[in-house]
Amino acid sequence: MKAVRFVETGRLAEVIDLPTPRPGPGQVLLKIAGAGVCHSDLHIMDEDLGLKGPFTLGHENAGWIAGLGVGVEGWKEGDAVAVYGPWGCGRCHACQTSMENYCENHAALGTMGGGLGSDGGMAEYMLIPSPRLLVPLQGLDPIAAAPLSDAALTPYHAIKQALPLLTPDATALVVGVGGLGHMAVQILRALTPARLIAGDIDDAKLAHARELGVEHALNTRDGEAAAQAITDLAGPRGVAVALDFVGAQPTIDLCARVVGRNSRLSVVGLGGGVVHYAANRPPYGCQVTVPYWGSRTELMEVISLAADGRIRADVETFPLEQAVEVYQRLREGRIHGRAVLLP
Ligand code: NAD
Ligand code: ZN
Ligand code: ZN
Repeated sequence: MKAVRFVETGRLAEVIDLPTPRPGPGQVLLKIAGAGVCHSDLHIMDEDLGLKGPFTLGHENAGWIAGLGVGVEGWKEGDAVAVYGPWGCGRCHACQTSMENYCENHAALGTMGGGLGSDGGMAEYMLIPSPRLLVPLQGLDPIAAAPLSDAALTPYHAIKQALPLLTPDATALVVGVGGLGHMAVQILRALTPARLIAGDIDDAKLAHARELGVEHALNTRDGEAAAQAITDLAGPRGVAVALDFVGAQPTIDLCARVVGRNSRLSVVGLGGGVVHYAANRPPYGCQVTVPYWGSRTELMEVISLAADGRIRADVETFPLEQAVEVYQRLREGRIHGRAVLLP
């Protein structure tokens, strides 16, 4: 089968032929319908994130069960499922409470999940180590559903933690309206009455935000002007919840300037910026958080939201063989919503 491989830091992904895997005891073989192309893969290829290659990329996957290892019960071939991506030990406190994204044993496991140390879903087939990592798709098309497992789950987790602050008089700010950000604005719309502001440096992404119902979509290239405009819109309370899906120095600094007192600044993007603190900036009471992905039960909730038609990933599909070109398009900001590779 064809597979898109991460080889080592500093090298482009490569498309090669690999034998089709067979499920061992307790494992499930998945026939991949689609694998989402996340900006994190670019970080993996560009920077040393401690992940050892080679492995097959793709940590945002959905498809159909194609084989059950000995001992796997309750599932059958052909079932449509999303893969819960952050694979933990399954035993620690975090894993037992469904938050494998915060597994205590990730370092010892030597992998963060399929496509993140273990073979992922940019291939015709993928091995899932345990059926606990499968979530039924509730009738959703598996190609459109693949991005739910990261591009939607990650903002959902960040937003759910911030819900008590997102009252009708609150303002939420989303910076970076790409794969994650375009899902974040929909999730905020679906779950909260808060006023919504989106920022990006790309006017096409801002137009996308407006199509998704964001009233105030601002170009943040001029940080000074953007901070003033956001402050004027937010009023005396300031921004109650800022979600930074870039995480670069200019976006972190912008968020830190516009959040109000008793607010929340969530840095989701891995852009390498630093949160500086000086007295009252970010303002007193601001909670700075670094959420990572989401829990298994949150993935079920995200799939329910999508099955009810309340959120939808805008997907551009490409054949798996074009992976290297698609990564280049993502790097240049030429993907609308989320790219999904089809084997
Ligand atoms: P993407 O490339 O699809 O979207 C990024 C968006 O940010 C684009 O719209 C781009 O125009 C915009 N942007 C870039 N630089 C900007 C700047 N200086 N100011 C304003 N906007 C800017 O990326 P994605 O797949 O949505 O991922 C976003 C980030 O989140 C990446 O860093 C990724 O690695 C990270 N991520 C983190 C987690 C987590 O759990 N913490 C999970 C998934 C992805
Ligand atoms: Zn990702
Ligand atoms: Zn664990």
